[in-house]
Amino acid sequence: MMDNASMAQAPADVEYEVVIGLEVHAQLLTKSKMFCRCSASYIAAGPNENTCPVCLGMPGVLPVMNEEAIRDTVLTGIALECTIPEVSKFDRKNYFYADLPKGYQISQFDQPLTIDGTLRFMVDGREVSCGIERVHLEEDAGTLHHLGTGIHSSHASLVDFNRAGVPLMEIVGRPDLRTPKEAREYVSTLRKILMFIGVNDGNLEEGSMRCDANISLRPKGSTELGAKVEIKNMNSFRSIERALEHEIQRQTALLRRGETIPQETRGWIDPENRTVSQRSKEQAHDYRYFPDPDLPALSISRELVEELRKRLPELPAAMQSRFVTSYGISDYEAGVLTQERDEAATFEEIVKRGVDPVLAARWCIGDLAKLAKETKTAIADSGLGIEGAAELLKLLHDGTINGATAKALAEELYEAGGSPAALVAERGLGKVSDRSAVETMCQEAIAGNQKAVDDFRGGKEAALQSLVGAVMKASRGRADASLVREVLTKLLSS
Ligand SMILES: [Zn+2]
Repeated sequence: MMDNASMAQAPADVEYEVVIGLEVHAQLLTKSKMFCRCSASYIAAGPNENTCPVCLGMPGVLPVMNEEAIRDTVLTGIALECTIPEVSKFDRKNYFYADLPKGYQISQFDQPLTIDGTLRFMVDGREVSCGIERVHLEEDAGTLHHLGTGIHSSHASLVDFNRAGVPLMEIVGRPDLRTPKEAREYVSTLRKILMFIGVNDGNLEEGSMRCDANISLRPKGSTELGAKVEIKNMNSFRSIERALEHEIQRQTALLRRGETIPQETRGWIDPENRTVSQRSKEQAHDYRYFPDPDLPALSISRELVEELRKRLPELPAAMQSRFVTSYGISDYEAGVLTQERDEAATFEEIVKRGVDPVLAARWCIGDLAKLAKETKTAIADSGLGIEGAAELLKLLHDGTINGATAKALAEELYEAGGSPAALVAERGLGKVSDRSAVETMCQEAIAGNQKAVDDFRGGKEAALQSLVGAVMKASRGRADASLVREVLTKLLSS
């Protein structure tokens, strides 16, 4: 027999641990760019319309800091439990690319605005806590449009500098994540927080929020990090999870064959479900960072930090648990309601008007959410509005109308507008709960559906449902269904 020490483990038998760290870039929602007065909303503008000598990198111009962008970044740091150092500065990150007119990007190297935070979130009922190394501020680059089908087959590329100089925050997470699902939840939680505090619009598809992942594998039990591969081009939650799953399989297969993993940057090609090598990974020293001589060091006063701390709104995780305890709704419902701050506020406004919270939650994430999606109009901005939705749900809750009528009214009023109560009175849509009226309708249904009556009397319980259906149809959905069932059962058994 051999002891463990003399038995070298074959690569094929090694179990690997996955180490993932994420870098998220988020464009700030400031009106102007980071170092000039050009508009930062660049999508609607024609090519190169939002540019000036500063963001085009002309010689002899000087950058001026956007104070709002600095406040937004510090606010983000506070929301992520970061430390805010008293001094910060901007550095030049030197590299050449056609979308970078100055030949360097103004970024932050060794003195970022915020450091050492934490992001906490739940995965499968377990709390995951991921370190935040830093949140720093930089400027975005321009965009390239390659004529033809792609960069390699293109005969020319056009450059648009509208995005050049837009304030961009980089949130660097520590390599504390262990599964693609944790990575997905990390981005989802971070996105919610940025949207809640109003610094970013959370649009992964359009790239105002972008995520890159560093992933490496190491033998289980090892504390050293393996060769780091950076994955880019993941522009949805689904692609983040799938790209990482794919990369784990690819790296595991290479390691099991005894090969080494080269340190490199790979791009995720979503339709092909694979990553491809883009370039070997650069090191920080390749960029020759140095302090930007045109920008003075920043002193972040403690008064500013305190002012921003006070301005920090309730964060989504806290709001979610408050919804569960104050309103008695499920954690799932509270999670859906707190996806966006405006929708959470709409729910609370409806409840404030005296609607049962459980009913309000069900409608806010159900029928009303569906209408909002179909019409691309938020509940608060719809014809129904918060007042109308509250009125409608109160009519439903006190039994004046039934569920089918409430649904039809919501659909009608969502775009047209109007008062649900007035419409119910005007059209006589109130639920028929009057016993003698229901009895008359039930007798008519029994007289007109002999086969169902015989089936029921012959022991076929299900036949009762077709009689209930007949009454509901005759009453245009207004009859109180449980009363109908009770009356029919009584009439048929006598
Ligand atoms: Zn400009």
